[in-house]
Amino acid sequence: MMIDICIIGGGASGLAAAVSAAEQKQGRVLILEKKQMPGKKIAASGNGRCNLTNRKCSGALETLDFFASLGVFTYTDGEGRVYPNSNQAKDVVYALVRAAKSLGVELKTECTVEKILPLSGRGGFQVRYKGGTLEAKKVLLACGGKAGPQLGTSGDGYGLAKALGHKVTRLAPILTGLETRENLKQLKGVRAMARVGLRKDGKLMAEETGEVQFNEDGISGICVMNLSRQVKLEPGETFAEGIARYQICFDFLPEMDWEETIVLLHRRQNIMELAVEDLFLSIVPSKLKQVLAEKSGLACGTQAALLSEGEVESAARILKSWTLSLSGVKGWNYAQCTSGGIPFGEVNGDTMESQLIPGLYFSGEILDFDGPCGGFNLQHAWETGRKAGKAMANAISNSSD
Ligand SMILES: Cc1cc2nc3c(=O)[nH]c(=O)nc-3n(C[C@H](O)[C@H](O)[C@H](O)COP(=O)(O)OP(=O)(O)OC[C@H]3O[C@@H](n4cnc5c(N)ncnc54)[C@H](O)[C@@H]3O)c2cc1C
Repeated sequence: MMIDICIIGGGASGLAAAVSAAEQKQGRVLILEKKQMPGKKIAASGNGRCNLTNRKCSGALETLDFFASLGVFTYTDGEGRVYPNSNQAKDVVYALVRAAKSLGVELKTECTVEKILPLSGRGGFQVRYKGGTLEAKKVLLACGGKAGPQLGTSGDGYGLAKALGHKVTRLAPILTGLETRENLKQLKGVRAMARVGLRKDGKLMAEETGEVQFNEDGISGICVMNLSRQVKLEPGETFAEGIARYQICFDFLPEMDWEETIVLLHRRQNIMELAVEDLFLSIVPSKLKQVLAEKSGLACGTQAALLSEGEVESAARILKSWTLSLSGVKGWNYAQCTSGGIPFGEVNGDTMESQLIPGLYFSGEILDFDGPCGGFNLQHAWETGRKAGKAMANAISNSSD
């Protein structure tokens, strides 16, 4: 059978592409999806709420119009993050799938694409999937990255693209937790507000403020996940060599400078027989208070009033710059996004068509793009998917004129 537009991957960008292509009514549009249902990652996104875009993105208004046209009613929080009003990510999937079906898009699930072969002479492609083949005039690779393989994305698209001559830049899991050399068993489950800095060879690379979650082997939370984007290996460096150069640094009192912190601690020394660890009372959660006192070498249980000036400075230092060494980055199963992919230089940014293989298109996370938490990655998926969908339909229309 000859399909006009074959979309590989029924995720965010694939569904957006299908709707946008089918709206132009230029022929058969088929989605091939590996999982038993489309949009599994959308349904898991934003902790099940789907942070579908961010008002700070230049294309946010178009995305909001698109979703409004599908019947998705949204709200925006104080950070510009947009969610469906119901806070139910599955409503976003429902709206996309319903629109696609009503526009006549065909959907074949439990269908893993294994090879794409350009048809010599007459244009178009043969698409081979487990259990069959089909032919298509235009093919969109919308099969995502490697993050969250449990949701269908195990990096198949990179192999398919490489076999067609495309490059793939170095891939790494990002928007994920960071592992520390120090054992943080005592702090498992603790959450604390902090300004968190990522240092490389002692030099500050990036800073984020927010809630840090401590786990046995490391830390997570949105601010930590955003910092994970900045952990990069130098060419030729092994992972062990590269990661050993990174440290993470916490400031639990970012609103106070050094002098103000010293004044605060002196004032606290004089409060009714406070113990040393209670210098940190209500600044950080109680389990962390104990650990900070121990790590700064102060004798827990003794009276804070008896501390020397040097010991007060040690207490201030740990509050303002507690430093841990990194030993790893949480892997693909925990990551929300992929760093690296098909270079933008190999794709026409207006149409998302390959610069190497006419008729082949790319959208979403398979491309070498990543944004921070907050709706930026889904925005990229909708935007590139819609561009590709429209461009494929236009190309079909032009070829049949
Ligand atoms: C847990 C989690 C939460 C997230 N939350 C947010 C959020 O709130 N906001 C945000 O902006 N971003 C979020 N992201 C990131 C965002 O979901 C992705 O960047 C986005 O979904 C990428 O869209 P895509 O179309 O490229 O790929 P996907 O949405 O991942 O879809 C790819 C599809 O291709 C299918 N597929 C793969 N290989 C094949 C094959 N060989 N044959 C056929 N089908 C195949 C997959 O099964 C999948 O359905 C989150 C990610 C995760 C993992």
